[in-house]
Amino acid sequence: MTVKTAVVVGAGIVGACLAYRLARAGLHVTILDAGQAHNKASGASWAWLNAASARDKPYYDLRKAGVAAYHDLEQELSGRLKIDWSGALVWDPDLYTPKAGGHPQKDWGGTMKIVNADEIRILEPLLTSPPQGALYSAEDGLVDGAHATQTVIESAQAIGARCAFGRRVQSLLHQDDRIIGVQTNYGTLQADVTILAAGTGNPDLLAAFDIALPTAHKAGLLITTAPISKRLTRALWTDTVHVKQLSDGRLVIGEYDHGPGGLDDPEATIARMIEITQKMMPALGVLSVERTTIATRPIPGDGYPVIGAIPSLPGAYIAMMHSGFTLAAVTAQLLSQEILGGNESPLLAPYRLSRFVQ
Ligand SMILES: Cc1cc2nc3c(=O)[nH]c(=O)nc-3n(C[C@H](O)[C@H](O)[C@H](O)COP(=O)(O)OP(=O)(O)OC[C@H]3O[C@@H](n4cnc5c(N)ncnc54)[C@H](O)[C@@H]3O)c2cc1C
Repeated sequence: MTVKTAVVVGAGIVGACLAYRLARAGLHVTILDAGQAHNKASGASWAWLNAASARDKPYYDLRKAGVAAYHDLEQELSGRLKIDWSGALVWDPDLYTPKAGGHPQKDWGGTMKIVNADEIRILEPLLTSPPQGALYSAEDGLVDGAHATQTVIESAQAIGARCAFGRRVQSLLHQDDRIIGVQTNYGTLQADVTILAAGTGNPDLLAAFDIALPTAHKAGLLITTAPISKRLTRALWTDTVHVKQLSDGRLVIGEYDHGPGGLDDPEATIARMIEITQKMMPALGVLSVERTTIATRPIPGDGYPVIGAIPSLPGAYIAMMHSGFTLAAVTAQLLSQEILGGNESPLLAPYRLSRFVQ
């Protein structure tokens, strides 16, 4: 069957990139969202584009391709994503374990290197007491999540994609053993392919077909401060908070992983995050909180992405993942190729839905 029409459920960064890529390939694409664009995880994301947080080689390769895909996208969109490629310093013990012989990513062909306290001081002079060691991931990118998502959506619209907001997809239309579109709160919409990019909304849409996708969703809190005049040289992913600076001078501070109930008292968490950041870099001066967000990361049960065709539902595809910012552009490149009848990428082989359900 020649695919001519697609409906993408979800206007976060994953749905936006998919819609853009499919529209560029000449499909008639409609993006549906129950709310507005980037109203869930993508608008409240720290949005660090990196391979540094991968702990196995296949995932590292996918994430590296993810970062590379943003270079392509940024070029196609004439720099409008405004990616800051100044890299990151990482000393979160979950991501960086100092040990003799270095870091496993060195053996995977990565360019990351381990730096000592003196080198860290040079890389980020605002740190008064740098850690003994850190991973310096020089090729990482940083974006403003809401701005980047909005930019990709507008770029998709500019090449013909239609967006319908306030349209909740209630179910998938099933006919002759094939998915032929969606039922929304405003009626039905038929399409040759239907792509679920609904973040935490995906499992409910699958459940109607007795497909139980396990999840490990996790909420996260971000603080945006008022603009400050000092400039951080790069992003910091520390053992407590993570801090980056937007081009307008605002800091975006994220929390370290919290346990269950860890966000029951957000005010206390916010005060602690500000205190930690100020102690780490006193030269920043007084930080005033301008905005806070709490959003849920869509995470499949084993922590890895789910990307590809839904085996029991021909015509339907899914793209659900954490680190969806890092992975959205490459997911769109590879999945759109598959949808259009091209080869299946080996990069996606470990991340199929079939590992959970047949
Ligand atoms: C605090 C925080 C920090 C993060 N930091 C990073 C980071 O540094 N780097 C990184 O790579 N990733 C990070 N992530 C993860 C990343 O932001 C997400 O993986 C990514 O935004 C997911 O995008 P998405 O498009 O799949 O989902 P979303 O952005 O959640 O979008 C899904 C959309 O689907 C819509 N929807 C849901 N159900 C339906 C339905 N039934 N009908 C119609 N529409 C529906 C929703 O309204 C929503 O707009 C972070 C996330 C959080 C919360």
